[in-house]
Amino acid sequence: MPELPDLLYIQARLKEALVGRRVVAERLREPIVMRFAVRGNLSLLLGRRLDDVIRHAHFLVFRFEDLDLAVNPMLAGRFRLAAPDEKDERDLVFALTFGPPEATSHGPRGEGDSMSDLRYRDEKNMGKAYLLAKGDWKAAAGMDQAGGVDVLAPEFTRERFVSLLKKRRDQVRVLLLDKRALDSIGNAYADEILFEARLHPKTFCRSLSHDDAVRLHDAIVKVMREAVAEVARRGEPIDVKVRDFLKVRLRDVCPRCGAKVRKAGVRGMDAYFCPHCQPATRAGLVDWTKTGK
Ligand SMILES: [Zn+2]
Repeated sequence: MPELPDLLYIQARLKEALVGRRVVAERLREPIVMRFAVRGNLSLLLGRRLDDVIRHAHFLVFRFEDLDLAVNPMLAGRFRLAAPDEKDERDLVFALTFGPPEATSHGPRGEGDSMSDLRYRDEKNMGKAYLLAKGDWKAAAGMDQAGGVDVLAPEFTRERFVSLLKKRRDQVRVLLLDKRALDSIGNAYADEILFEARLHPKTFCRSLSHDDAVRLHDAIVKVMREAVAEVARRGEPIDVKVRDFLKVRLRDVCPRCGAKVRKAGVRGMDAYFCPHCQPATRAGLVDWTKTGK
């Protein structure tokens, strides 16, 4: 699933490519993925100009004058920019064809200002796309429940995080994934952050010392900022997920100490961790360092 670094990269690329252009054609191939909170269908977007592309929690929102198209890609949704005559329509959910950029006061249109397709595909059809009246975010499931502090913003301070932790009675990995608390961390980066902070994924928030809490805060900021920079630096097409730089997620061996990376179930999610660098801190957890494996 795209996480914050992926979404920010996709958002920037789509904004650069499509803002200011008008929709000239649309096609919907998987109506099961679409939800209409306004009367009509995708053809409502015809002739409308794209004003902005923003990220809201795990949604990308395409803002058209009085309408928003909000997409939650879930596990397998991917965006792609394509030439309208390109044949690859595998797993296509919808496509919007954008006309050339409108001529501006900066001069006439240049070469290459041709039509462009925004294609959204989903091999599992688990994601959802909502067409909404502008700003009517309560009409999209999960969109108005988000609202945690942006972990990349200056207001995500050590003090704010320490006070957030004090209110929590759950496990630290559950907190990291809570979109109402933090905006936003998914499974892959939750593992990387706990590895960086050297904390076992099943550690309870209330058992963290002040130093642990500060280290965890700093790990969130470091891991997420570095990932944003790395994904941007690679400059891959937007349907390519760049994850090969992750240190512990889906890895066999810890890059720090060489121990075997283990998996633990935390609230039904697989957590990857190094049992040596992130030792268990409470009774009842497997102590992998003593199993001889
Ligand atoms: Zn290790």
